[in-house]
Amino acid sequence: MPELLRGLGASAGTATGPAYRLADPPRLPPPRPVTDPAAEIQRAYAAVEAVGAEIRQRAAAAADETSGDILRVQASLAEDRVLRDGIAAAVRAGQEAPHAVAAVLAAHRSALLAAGGVLAARAADLDDLRDRVVAHCLGLPMPTLPQPGRPFVLVAVDLAPADAALLDPERVLAVVTSAGSFVSHTAILARARGLPTVVACGGALEIGDGTVVTVDGTAGRVSVGVTADPPPTSASPAAPAEELRGSTADGHHVALLANIGCAEELAGLAVEGVGLFRTELLFQHHLDPPSLAEQVEAYAEVFAVLGDRPVIVRTLDAGSDKPLPFLRETDEPNPALGIRGLRVVRRHAEILRTQLAAIAAAARGSRARVSVMAPMVTTVAEAAEFAALCRDAGLPTVGVMIEVPAAAVRAAEILQAVDFLSVGTNDLSQYTFAADRRSGELADLLDPWQPALLSLLALCAAAGAALGRPVGVCGEAAADPAFAVVLAGLGVTSLSMSPGAIPAVRAALAAHTVDECRAAAQQALAADDPRTARAAVPRVR
Ligand code: PEP
Ligand code: MG
Repeated sequence: MPELLRGLGASAGTATGPAYRLADPPRLPPPRPVTDPAAEIQRAYAAVEAVGAEIRQRAAAAADETSGDILRVQASLAEDRVLRDGIAAAVRAGQEAPHAVAAVLAAHRSALLAAGGVLAARAADLDDLRDRVVAHCLGLPMPTLPQPGRPFVLVAVDLAPADAALLDPERVLAVVTSAGSFVSHTAILARARGLPTVVACGGALEIGDGTVVTVDGTAGRVSVGVTADPPPTSASPAAPAEELRGSTADGHHVALLANIGCAEELAGLAVEGVGLFRTELLFQHHLDPPSLAEQVEAYAEVFAVLGDRPVIVRTLDAGSDKPLPFLRETDEPNPALGIRGLRVVRRHAEILRTQLAAIAAAARGSRARVSVMAPMVTTVAEAAEFAALCRDAGLPTVGVMIEVPAAAVRAAEILQAVDFLSVGTNDLSQYTFAADRRSGELADLLDPWQPALLSLLALCAAAGAALGRPVGVCGEAAADPAFAVVLAGLGVTSLSMSPGAIPAVRAALAAHTVDECRAAAQQALAADDPRTARAAVPRVR
């Protein structure tokens, strides 16, 4: 009998193949006295240089521009003069090369974390850099993705951003991590690449290399030792063009939309439209605010691919987990509770004004049905102010995201000021449960089936029904097929998710009448805990 491991389904679909584990980072040997400091400094410098060069090579070979940019930033950390000076000083103070490197990078890491914002987000890059440089000093193999010579299921504690950026669906069939959460970077990048993924999976690290596993990223299960080695398969069915619309068994329409960050993600994609265009992803490696012309071009590219389909453009969502180099708010002790999302307007009004002008200009030159929405709206006044700015810019259809509990409980009042709502369950969970959305340890609190989250979603949907205005969900919870049934039953009018998740959600909706969805929603709302709530939709689990 295969052994069954449970975790959190973070990217839908199933895949079967041999599992291979990401190599552990090297351990430091016990310290020894330094006899030749000059030679030891050279040893450390050679390792830093080799690692910098290796990362630059990987950047040059990266499959897309974003991955390349992430790696170039990491390489520049390795080339930092201050890092070298620190290493030399640590060696002269008596530490061997690998220990000196680890100590100096640990100090940099603490400083980055303390600085918060964009700098804190680099801490993970530093961890990866430390592992690579220490490995080089010790003459050990670099921690890198396994190369078993055949497609495989990647098993890891978690993935460094650089490793996650390089996941190649031709080689990696699925991902299983022992840490991470539904909204960690590993999960988001895996979803963007359509890789079935299970995170926070207990027992994952005990899976032996070469063992055949089946990863069910929809249900959050990993079956270990399923068969003799079958040809690896990946099942992420593409939707036939004529069946794009999401609807229940009795024809109640729930729009199934895609979350995207750039035009490339739309290539060959058969979807009803885009429910969340994360514009900050276009500019995350820009050192200066993007110009009006640059933005018009980027938005026009997306609109052109969509033809006359709808697209909801989210204005820049900078700050906290989405740092932008040109919007550093370095004076914040707690960036998640600071100047982020729409709040950036308080300090940099011109950035939103330029962005709205660019979206309006691109919309004028296209057939796409363009709406805009703001992230991290908290009050009715903020929603009204945003709506006025959009309409002044020539963008008539305006919505806001509901990501803050204060906004959810006042959804009805907020909806008087705008045309639609879109619930961002990733942040709404984070703020409702006071649980960092990247935390694997708190993944149970971030479970979208938590009763408190369901109650807030019900409030939003009811506000929309009362006013006859659309209320969508664009957080990753919309990608859970059973949860989608409940959302439809609550009265949510559209579900936007990573494109790879749409076929399974479409199938789940098609398997239920709208009355069954409503009954499931009521049962889930009445539940006291996530497990009972989930049991309200038995047929798609
Ligand atoms: C959300 O918070 O649910 C959301 C969709 O936005 P993001 O994940 O980009 O913060
Ligand atoms: Mg958000």
